[in-house]
Amino acid sequence: MGDIHRVLIANRGEIAVRIIRACKELGLETVQVYSEADADALAVRMADHAVCIGLARSSDSYLQKTTLLSAALTSKADAIHPGYGFLSENADFAEMCEAAGIIFIGPRAATIRTMGDKIAARQLAHSCGVPTTMGSMGALVDSNEAIAVAHEIGYPVMLKASAGGGGRGMRIVWEASDMDAAFTSAVREAKSSFGDGTLYLEKYLTRIRHIEIQILGDGQEVWQFGERDCSIQRRNQKLVEESPSPVLNNVLREKLAEAAVRLCQHIGYISAGTIEFILDEDTGKFYFIEMNTRIQVEHPVTEMVTGFDLVKAQIRIAAGIRLPFGQDDITMNGHAIECRINAEDYENDFTPNPGTITHLQLPGGPGVRFDSHIYCGYTVPPYYDSLLGKLICWGQTREEAIARMRRALGELRIEGVKTTVGFHQELLGHVAFQQGQCHTGYVNEAFAAKQKDTA
Ligand code: ADP
Ligand code: ADP
Ligand code: MG
Repeated sequence: MGDIHRVLIANRGEIAVRIIRACKELGLETVQVYSEADADALAVRMADHAVCIGLARSSDSYLQKTTLLSAALTSKADAIHPGYGFLSENADFAEMCEAAGIIFIGPRAATIRTMGDKIAARQLAHSCGVPTTMGSMGALVDSNEAIAVAHEIGYPVMLKASAGGGGRGMRIVWEASDMDAAFTSAVREAKSSFGDGTLYLEKYLTRIRHIEIQILGDGQEVWQFGERDCSIQRRNQKLVEESPSPVLNNVLREKLAEAAVRLCQHIGYISAGTIEFILDEDTGKFYFIEMNTRIQVEHPVTEMVTGFDLVKAQIRIAAGIRLPFGQDDITMNGHAIECRINAEDYENDFTPNPGTITHLQLPGGPGVRFDSHIYCGYTVPPYYDSLLGKLICWGQTREEAIARMRRALGELRIEGVKTTVGFHQELLGHVAFQQGQCHTGYVNEAFAAKQKDTA
C-alpha cells in the first residue's frame, strides 16, 4: 500500500492489538516486538512476525531506540508505528527512523520536537491567535521568578513540566509560601520522568472541563473530527471520555475546532494529533494547554461517532496516500463514551493490581466495542501501565450511550485481578454524570466525600 508493506509495532498492550487490526484491514504485514515479560501477549500471537527486544523493564526494551531500529531493519519492515506513550513523542527516535529510511508513522521529527516542548507549543499557539492561559511565557529560572509571576496573575497557579505528559510533573500552588517546596518537587519529578526539569507556570483554573479536538493532517490539508470531553480525571489523568461534549453548543464547537485547525495548518501538521483545551463553562472561554502529536488512548470515541478509522487513516497518510474525503464528509452521529478499565484497586487509592486473569466474560450487543489485549489465563505483568482495555459504547443519544455502558459494564466479568469496573459503575450512577455536570475536579471531590462518609 503506497510506500508501506510491512509495519513494525513499537508498543504493547491494547494499542498494539489496535494497530495490528488496522494493518490487517489494509493488507499490510505486521512485526510485533515484545519484551521478555510480554512473550505471551495477544499482539505477539496476532502479528505475522514477532521479535524479542529485551528485558521486561521498558528502558531495556520498548524504549531502546537502536534495538527497535535494528529489529525493523532485520525484519524488513518499512515503517514503525509507535502507538502512544513510550517513543511515540520522541523526536530523536523519529529522526533516527527518517535517517535509516524507515517511515515513522507520526509527524515529522521537527514537529514532535516543537510541540513536545510545552513552552514552545504555548508560544506558538499564542502567536497564531489561539488563546492560552495566563502565565509565564517562557521557562522559569527558579521559585522566586515563579512567585513573581504568580503574584502578577494571582493564585492558585499550576507549575508544569515543559517536557511533561501523563499528568506527571505538575503541582498546584495555592499561596506563595508553598511555592518553594512545590517547585523543588516538580523539578525532581520532571527530571526523573522526562530527563528535563524545565518548568513553566499557568493560572490554575477550577471547575473547568477538558475538551480536545481530534485532527488529521497530511501536510497540505487539515481535517478535524470534532471534540472529546475528557473531564472525568483523577490526578490529571483521564478515566472516561466522550464525544460530543455535553456542554458545547455549535458556536463554541466551531470556535474550538477552528482554533485547532488554524494551529495545525500553521505548523503544516502531518498525521493524527490532538489539540487539548480547558474550557470555562460559565464564560465560554477556552484555553490551549498542549498538543499530543500521536494517536491517543481515547481515539475510539471519535471513531464511533464519525465512522472513520483514525489508525488506518494515519497509516495511509504515512504511506503517502491522499485521503479520499473532505471536511464536509466528516459528520458526528450519536454519542459515544469510553471507560478505561485498569487493573487497579480503586477502593484502595487505585493501586495497580497485576496478576493472572482466571475468568473473563466480555460484553456485546448493539453499540458495544471492547479494545483490549487480555484473554482468560493472561498474566498482567507489573512493569507497564495498568490499562486492561477500553470499553466504548455508542448510542443515538447520550442517555442511550450511558444506559448501554451501564449494561455492558454489568456484563463484563474479569476475575483474578482487581479492576476499575466498579468505579465506572458507580460513577455512571451519579446524577451529576448523567446530567453532564462534571468538571475536572469532580472525581476527587465526589469520591473523597464518599470515603469520608463511609469512614
Ligand atoms: P491520552 O492523552 O492519550 O489519554 P495519556 O496522557 O493518558 O494520553 O498517556 C497515554 C499513555 O502514555 C499512558 O499510558 C501514559 O502513561 C503514557 N505516557 C504519556 N506521556 C508519557 C511520557 N512522557 N513518558 C512516558 N509515558 C507517557
Ligand atoms: P499532560 O501533558 O500531563 O497531559 P496537560 O497539560 O494536558 O498535561 O494537563 C493535564 C490535565 O491537567 C488537564 O486535562 C487538566 O485537567 C489539568 N490542567 C492542566 N492545566 C491546567 C490549568 N491551567 N488549570 C486547571 N487545570 C489544568
Ligand atoms: Mg494532556
